[in-house]
Amino acid sequence: QVAQPRAAGASRAYAAAAQAALSVLESELDAIRTAGTWKGERVITSRQGPRISVDGSRGDILNFCANNYLGLSSHPEVVKAGIEALQKYGAGLSSVRFICGTQSIHKNLEEKLAQFHEREDCILYASCFDANAGLFEVLLGPDDAVLSDELNHASIIDGIRLCRAKRFRYKHMDLNDLEEKLKESQSSRLRLVVTDGVFSMDGDVAPLQGICDLAEQYGALVFIDECHATGFLGPRGRGTDELLGVMDRVHIVNSTLGKALGGAAGGYTVGPKALIELLRQRSRPYLFSNSLPPPVVGCATRAVELLLASNEIAQSMAAKTMRFRNNMTQAGFTISGTAHPICPVMLGDARLASLMADDMLKLGVYVIGFSYPVVPKGKARIRVQISAAHTDEDIDRAVDAFIQTGRKHGVIS
Ligand code: PLP
Repeated sequence: QVAQPRAAGASRAYAAAAQAALSVLESELDAIRTAGTWKGERVITSRQGPRISVDGSRGDILNFCANNYLGLSSHPEVVKAGIEALQKYGAGLSSVRFICGTQSIHKNLEEKLAQFHEREDCILYASCFDANAGLFEVLLGPDDAVLSDELNHASIIDGIRLCRAKRFRYKHMDLNDLEEKLKESQSSRLRLVVTDGVFSMDGDVAPLQGICDLAEQYGALVFIDECHATGFLGPRGRGTDELLGVMDRVHIVNSTLGKALGGAAGGYTVGPKALIELLRQRSRPYLFSNSLPPPVVGCATRAVELLLASNEIAQSMAAKTMRFRNNMTQAGFTISGTAHPICPVMLGDARLASLMADDMLKLGVYVIGFSYPVVPKGKARIRVQISAAHTDEDIDRAVDAFIQTGRKHGVIS
């Protein structure tokens, strides 16, 4: 049957209604601009690295805002492995894993990641966002409880929303409050304590020893998101659990291939074999989304191999981080967190953070202001991230630029 054309009057009414709906979006956009929280996107015209070219800025710019903690995003061996995987295995699979999207390289990377984290098994996802979206719904039912740090990453919050377990939110890194919530949830069948290993906006490290002690006392499991720890925290770069000596007491780890491990894309869960097998059967972002492309798998595999072979790269960043933190503190700035390469320069006001970041770019240093809703209102900051690929001179140039712009805007005297 052929669809009948709509009457001209009905079409005009529909067009007007659609226009009215879209104008609501315009006023929301205006509100974001007025609040000074608009997130612009600068366009990079080079590879990722400590020095980049940015559209509209002259010459090389020092880059202090990538999660490229180990400088592996453009490491020659990582890039070469990606090219070789592209040539041998093609651009992509045009399939999900369980239909015809599993190649030998996917299995090999899963094995290497399980080995790296010293866990039984691993499952790959297209991103850690997906790994977080796909875990909780499979693991936890209505008789279970999830106890989550209030500042956990958005993808954890979204993943928890998708599951039917009872939800308990404990105060940020507050062990007393966690214990209260463990007492409240005593009658649940299974309980899972969920925390970022490192909180990306503050660079603070979760108190995992205390969390594991409480979990053991109350019979709960422990999950950590290691996106800002995998590859460089701990003596061998295995993460927060290695740093704090609890690798055998944390049950499930989610992390990303999109930051320290080559920076391309991808995420994964490592943990007990039975859990990983169940995720392969039931986890929706795994079952209903394409396999990781071979070049991405090639790059990540080489990055993990480099870290399994030597802890030198993992160790190379710490001194640079302390150089930046100490010199900035001495200059009068407040830097949040402790020894982590995420160094948030606390400013408070959203517009100030954004103006200072613009001025830093004019001085050849690329940093980004973060404001609400990414961080709480009134806690705007410039988040500086140190990479193993930065030199001491790079660090000193960034500190000098901060001092110059900080004085201009009255942040320091
Ligand atoms: N978890 C945390 C703590 C993150 O910082 C991020 C990325 O910003 C993610 C999860 C998501 O990782 P991916 O980029 O692999 O989706």
